Amino acid sequence: MKYDLIIVGQGIAGTAIAAKALEYNKKIILIDERHKPVASEVAAGVINPLTGKNWGLAWEFENAFAEAQHFYQYWETFFHTKFLRQKPIKRYLAHIGDQNTLAAFAQENPYQKYVQALHLSASERHTSAWKNTFGSVDIFPAAHINTQHLLATFRQFFSEKNMLCEEQFCHEQLTIFSDKVIYKDMEASFVVFCEGYKVLSNPLFARLPINACKGEVLLAEIDELDRHFMYKCGVMAAPQSEKIWWIGSTYHWNELSETPNLAMLEELRKLLQENLLVPYKIQNMQAGIRPGSPDRRPIVGNLKEYPPVTILNGLGTKAYLYAPLMAHFLAKYLFQQENLPPTIALSRFKAFR
Ligand SMILES: Cc1cc2nc3c(=O)[nH]c(=O)nc-3n(C[C@H](O)[C@H](O)[C@H](O)COP(=O)(O)OP(=O)(O)OC[C@H]3O[C@@H](n4cnc5c(N)ncnc54)[C@H](O)[C@@H]3O)c2cc1C
Repeated sequence: MKYDLIIVGQGIAGTAIAAKALEYNKKIILIDERHKPVASEVAAGVINPLTGKNWGLAWEFENAFAEAQHFYQYWETFFHTKFLRQKPIKRYLAHIGDQNTLAAFAQENPYQKYVQALHLSASERHTSAWKNTFGSVDIFPAAHINTQHLLATFRQFFSEKNMLCEEQFCHEQLTIFSDKVIYKDMEASFVVFCEGYKVLSNPLFARLPINACKGEVLLAEIDELDRHFMYKCGVMAAPQSEKIWWIGSTYHWNELSETPNLAMLEELRKLLQENLLVPYKIQNMQAGIRPGSPDRRPIVGNLKEYPPVTILNGLGTKAYLYAPLMAHFLAKYLFQQENLPPTIALSRFKAFR
């Protein structure tokens, strides 16, 4: 059978390039082994413009968020469902320095537009469900993607349209020509590897500098939190199904076991206990492995020696923000021969020049 693309992996990276290729009327087949847990399902799906201790503005936020909104809304209309909900992140200030930073942000471009409201008064601090010593800020625009619903909806669609092969991709069985690849009975103009951290065992990308970062998550039942918000107070809290909140997450490198690390979970639970002032009941725990890159930019491109072999990876901690824009760039590169922005190109790494 002939295809335009063979896509390996149906996390958010594979889903985004598959959906984009369909927008170009291309013929695709996805191969996914459906191993659990998959980072794309464990993720909260938070899209946050101001992150980290220093409140850094996410790289290319405005372009990436515009493309993400366009992408998720296009497919919401197609499937008659909802994946993206815009909602503010209520972030609690950690110290007096944060108050100064935020007061300055409220006056300054490009940050001004993300500071929706600053709450520093004592009365607001005393009625909070979270420990609130220095006040809080509502960050907006921000959004929440229902990650499990999105991946399951696409999976069912790909499966019904015979675009999905549920099996492990075996790299040894791939034959590469200058203008096509052959895998078993499939022939395609390109193969796109979207394997997440599992690219570490792909021999074609053995020299790719992927930083795998494991993260643990708690799922807790909490009645007394307003679901119109997401929260950041020691932990990140995002609404999941009814009454269930996603509480995350830990960050640790060099551990590739996919089972949750109990010591890390205990640290997360303590952080929740210290910061959440209303009752909660822990219902479950999960872990996933994020595929990051050394410069924290996504990785998109093809191998110089094997042009039909391409990759979309390195989505790090902001996969749901960046995947649609990266799929847009990759589709333009593959189908319209447009250059990739150098900041995301695979060729920025010496080993791939
Ligand atoms: C705890 C945690 C919280 C997170 N929170 C957020 C968040 O709030 N917002 C956000 O944007 N991002 C978040 N992330 C990051 C995000 O989850 C990842 O960056 C993203 O999921 C990576 O997507 P991916 O498609 O590249 O890889 P993955 O999700 O790992 O998907 C890879 C897919 O490829 C398949 N595969 C791999 N190898 C093979 C093979 N040989 N054969 C067949 N199939 C194969 C796997 O089965 C899998 O389905 C979080 C991550 C973690 C762990």
